[in-house]
Amino acid sequence: MTSPEPAPTRPPTSDRSVPGPEPTGASASGGAAGDVPRIDLHAHSTASDGTLTPAELVRTARAVGLDVLALTDHDTTSGWEPAARALPPGLTLIRGAELSCRWYGTEPSIPLHLLAYLFDPDAPGLAAELARVRAAREVRGERIVALLRADGIDVSWSEVLAYADGGTVGRPHIAQALIRAGLVASTAEAFAPQWLGERYRLPKDDIDVFRAVELVRQAGGVPVLAHPRATRRGLIVPDTVIVELAALGLAGLEADHEDHSSAERAAVRALAGRLGLFVTGSSDFHGTHKTVRLGAYTTGVETYERIVASARGVAPLTGPG
Ligand SMILES: [Zn+2]
Ligand SMILES: [Zn+2]
Repeated sequence: MTSPEPAPTRPPTSDRSVPGPEPTGASASGGAAGDVPRIDLHAHSTASDGTLTPAELVRTARAVGLDVLALTDHDTTSGWEPAARALPPGLTLIRGAELSCRWYGTEPSIPLHLLAYLFDPDAPGLAAELARVRAAREVRGERIVALLRADGIDVSWSEVLAYADGGTVGRPHIAQALIRAGLVASTAEAFAPQWLGERYRLPKDDIDVFRAVELVRQAGGVPVLAHPRATRRGLIVPDTVIVELAALGLAGLEADHEDHSSAERAAVRALAGRLGLFVTGSSDFHGTHKTVRLGAYTTGVETYERIVASARGVAPLTGPG
């Protein structure tokens, strides 16, 4: 159970990416590909709760001028193959996932998301845990639909499954059913307390976050904590938890994310600097389920190279030509 860190090789331009002036930030203009590669390390497809198929997602990524895209569906790698097959020239695909984790060190426990890049999808520990979480999500979704139906609300499980289209079932798919039934106007509204936010909310069976970091490392992947300070999403874990995660092999923190205020981004950068972690910036694109555009936030090339250099699971894939 060794933690495969630190990276054996540093890129020649060994510029520490914390917390320096990286070319991150909102510049989703696409168009003229300059010298600086545009790298978006967090996006969802229909393999989880995005609205573009993996193939559409990689094509769109290139069309908006990205050079690198990470596909990070919730708890699944099922989008990897179709994304790889559709990879357009000039785009590099980082195969990843966003793991549904939880910190059980307080009551109630706090959910958090762990991005994992370039891990071996067949590593037994991680694969088993992902399968367990996906199965639990399905049971939970079915129970939420049953609660809604018990209150006379016209949604069905088969409809929700159809929205998930073979991908991981999530609350956004139930939200779609509520929108279709004319009960709410948007996904955001469906997540309000009187709906999926509280009244029809059931606990999720997530992965203990410490175990998740260890499993990702064992699978040769690079773990990065997604939106760690996003107070607008709910409770966040204290810094002491992130310190412990860093000791276990956490490699980076997502700083530039639409759910972080500028003060929260600065706090993430400062913490990363103290712990020797890198910082990333990503769109967390979900298609039309959210308003953020693909490539709205990006990651510096030094950080990207650090991720690639320390990964031992699968390699980045580059489109033909
Ligand atoms: Zn997330
Ligand atoms: Zn996400």
